[in-house]
Formats: sequence, structure tokens, C-alpha cells
Amino acid sequence: MLNIFLYGPSGAGKSTIGKVLARNLNLPFVDSDQMLEQNAGISIPQIVTEQGMPTVRDLETTTLKQIINSSECVVALGGGALLRDENRALVEQGGRVILLSAELSTLIERLQNDPNERPLLAGDLQSKLASYLDGRADHYGSFPFKVQVDGKTPEQIAREIQILLGRHHLSAMGEYDVQVGQIKTLPYANSIIVTDENIAKHHLEKIKRAIGVEARAIIIPAGEEHKNLETVSRLWKAFLENGLDRKSTVIALGGGVISDMSGFAAATYMRGINWIGIPTTLLSMVDASLGGKTGIDLPEGKNLIGSFYPPKLVLADPSLLLTLPERELISGMAEVVKHGIISDPELFELCSRGMDWVKANLEEIVKRAMAVKIKVIEEDPYERAFRAALNLGHTVGHAVELTSKFDLRHGEAVAIGTVVEAKYAEQIGIAEKGLADKIAGTMSALGLPIQIPDEMPREKIIAAMRVDKKKTAKAIRFALPVKIGKVELVNVSDLESVLE
Ligand code: NAD
Repeated sequence: MLNIFLYGPSGAGKSTIGKVLARNLNLPFVDSDQMLEQNAGISIPQIVTEQGMPTVRDLETTTLKQIINSSECVVALGGGALLRDENRALVEQGGRVILLSAELSTLIERLQNDPNERPLLAGDLQSKLASYLDGRADHYGSFPFKVQVDGKTPEQIAREIQILLGRHHLSAMGEYDVQVGQIKTLPYANSIIVTDENIAKHHLEKIKRAIGVEARAIIIPAGEEHKNLETVSRLWKAFLENGLDRKSTVIALGGGVISDMSGFAAATYMRGINWIGIPTTLLSMVDASLGGKTGIDLPEGKNLIGSFYPPKLVLADPSLLLTLPERELISGMAEVVKHGIISDPELFELCSRGMDWVKANLEEIVKRAMAVKIKVIEEDPYERAFRAALNLGHTVGHAVELTSKFDLRHGEAVAIGTVVEAKYAEQIGIAEKGLADKIAGTMSALGLPIQIPDEMPREKIIAAMRVDKKKTAKAIRFALPVKIGKVELVNVSDLESVLE
């Protein structure tokens, strides 16, 4: 359980933002000052006047203990609630404190029309507020997680906090939480882990320990070539042999191959049982584990069989990526860059700093890239419109991946596909000049390929594109980049010209 405490000066917006954040995360909202007043039966200004500030601090301690001992929630704290060391220790044990910082001018603007009585700010608001902020500068400055609120809407700030914490609640297709962080306990006794031989070596014992009972596991061979009906059939049989029933949970511990296939096996076993995702590759953290697309390949093409079947929970622990081979980590970066191109120009710029920077800031990269995908799939869960933007680089990419007979990793093929599609977008005049070079520069800085291998027959790539599942009657719908931060959907019938 991890409560979220919003802290900071009066007027920073703790209650307004807290309510938005609580709604986004499907958690209760608590205003600690209101709770304190309810407990005391009189208002805080009255307590200050009649009994003095130390009494307020005592009541704050009692209130915080009460909050921490109830269910997980988002809490707006009083502006000085953590000045007492005991209070600070309490909340830091019971959750995460986010400090909302604001410029003096922002606070004045908000507080001058505020009807609430604030004894500490009575009199000349500007000078009182300035000295109040001065006096608390060191205290507020000592909180490690800060969000600047000036000029932003409560929705924007709540989203920033969610990215900082790596916490989301998805509700457009099924209802599930997505959390980034260390995995300590997994209360899924009636479950089975599906993983592959590589991941099992590094992480299976840890996940079994987190489940805590005689946890069972099915270990399958690694690789895209096993993402097929034969392996799914093996999973169904293993589910039966292990006595899985409609109340059981499948735990997909692995990359996109494992989550696509385990999700599909869960979707179809006994007409659908629960599954949760524990992604272990960068690609699966920022992409495959999110959005409920599950499926398998046919010899004729990738992901041709499948269903929309969301997990019940996704837990992304970036420390699991430490064992990932370098090539896989780099491959996953193609999807991160893609997410930057779709709607986060700052993320795109961070990617262009290269792999050393990325490795040192992996958690931030994971959190930001996840947030892009989550925003898109929440707006369009069933790919009726904008979700198709996530196919950027994938129409050419899937075809190149298939034509390479999976010698190229998925992300490597997507990197090539994104650059090829960007060149085409420039050629037909919908993209900014120089966009393809910019994207190629970032992909190269990360060590990703940017050109279709010379020896790869173009007609095979085109044939593979034609069986792509995103094909419409006469044309294939491409997601093409217009500029960094914007993608457009375009129907293309002359496929040869895309590869020119
Ligand atoms: P993957 O699942 O094949 O994993 C890559 C390799 O890394 C495997 O050999 C695996 O054994 C190994 N591995 C995984 N985690 C490891 C770890 N922590 N330590 C050591 N080794 C580890 O590949 P991927 O790139 O994660 O996923 C690609 C698949 O995802 C493709 O099939 C693609 O179609 C699918 N995908 C699905 C979606 C979706 O929305 N469902 C989106 C994007 C991609």
C-alpha cells in the first residue's frame, strides 16, 4: 500500500489536484485538514486562537496515523503538516510525498480571492506569503519529489505526478492498474507463472518468492518463432494439468512474446481467466504489456490471430531490465522513440542523448514512454481511430521483421520502418523537411539500424505488407509522422513508392 501525499504551501492546489489524481487512480481522496477539523469538532483557525499551534500539530499526528492505518488513498496535507519530524517520518513510511511548488505570484493570485480563513497569512498577503515561503524554503526544498504547478491545469499536474510515480488506472478496456516499481509481494496463490527459459534463469525464483506459496511455473522456449498456436496449445494443456479454473490467474513474466501469448491463452482458456503482466523487456514495459492486445503469429504474418483481452494488473519493475541483453534493450528503445514521435517531444530529445544516458535514466524513460501509450489507448482502446498512431513504423517494420525471418529484433525492424515511413511522409509532403534525418539521427544514436538491409528483396517486403492486418480494401493505412509530437493516419495504395 502506497498512499500519495500532496504537500506544499497554501494555494499550491493540493486539494484540487488531489481530487483529480484520486479520480485518475481510482483511489479515495482525503483532505487531512478537513479530517482534523472533523475529529476536533472545531476549525483549525479556532484551534490556533484558543489552544495554540502545538495543539494543531498534535492533532495532525493523530489524523495522519488514522489515514495511514486506513485504505490506500490520495491525501492533501496541511501546508505545515510535516514540519514536525514525527509527522514527516509517518507519511514517508506510509507512502510517497509529492511537493507542489509554486511561484509567489501564482500563490498570491490564487489566495487573494480564497474565502478560507488562513491565520498564518492574515494581514498584508504579499509580505506575509513572502516571509512564510522564506521561512519554509529549506523545509519544502528537502522533499525529493517536486512538481512545479505554475501555468498548468490540475489535469496536467496530476498527469505529471502519475508519470513521476509510475502509477495509472486504465478503464477504457477493462479496469486495471499499471504500476512501476519493485515487486515485493504478489497475492496470487491460485496462479501459474508463464515465462521463458532465459527469464526463468534470472527472475523466476524472485517472483515465486513474491507469490509466497508453492508457486507453479510453465517455462517455454524463448523467441518469436514460438509465438504460435502450438505453444498456446501447450499452455492450455499445462493449465489443465495444473488444475487452473475460472478463478485462477496467469502471470505473464516476460517480454512481448510471453505477454501476447499468455494473454491469448488466458483469454481463451475456459472462455477467459484473469492474467497479470510482469514485463521483463523494455519493449514489453512500454508497449506490449499495455492495451490488452494479445495474440499469436501465423506463418503468413505476425499477430494475425488474437483478441483484445486486458490484464488485471501490470507491474513493471525496471530492475528486471538489468539482465536484458544489450541488443534487446536497444531494440526496445525503438518503441520509446516512437512514443516520443507520437506525442512527447521531450522524450524524443532525451532519447537522442544516446544509450549511456538512457541506461543511467532507465526508470524515467520507462515511466514517460508508458504514459504515452496509456494516454493513446485510454482515448481509443479498440483502435477505431487514433490508437492506430501506435502503428508508426510498424507497417514497414513488421514486413521487414518477417522478411528477415526474425533475424532482426522487433524493435530493430520498427526503427527501420519508422525511418522509411518518415522518408515517405516527407516525399508526399505531409512531414516537416528534415524529419526523417532527425529520426534517423536519434535511432542511430541509440545503436539502432535505419536502413532496410541491401540484400532484402523489396518485393518480399511489399508482399508481407499486403497481408498486414491493418490492410483496408484497396489500401493500407499507415501512421505517418508529420513532426516530432504529431502523427497522421494516411491510406496508401502504391506500396512500391513507400520503399523508394
Ligand atoms: P521477447 O519477448 O522475444 O524477448 C526478447 C528476448 O529477451 C527473449 O529471448 C527473452 O527470453 C529475453 N528476455 C526477456 N526478458 C529478459 C530479461 N529481463 N533478462 C534476460 N533476458 C530476457 O521480445 P520483446 O521484444 O519483448 O517482444 C516482442 C513481441 O512483442 C513481438 O512478438 C511483438 O509482436 C509483440 N508486441 C506486442 C504488442 C502488443 O500491443 N500486444 C506491442 C508491441 C510488440
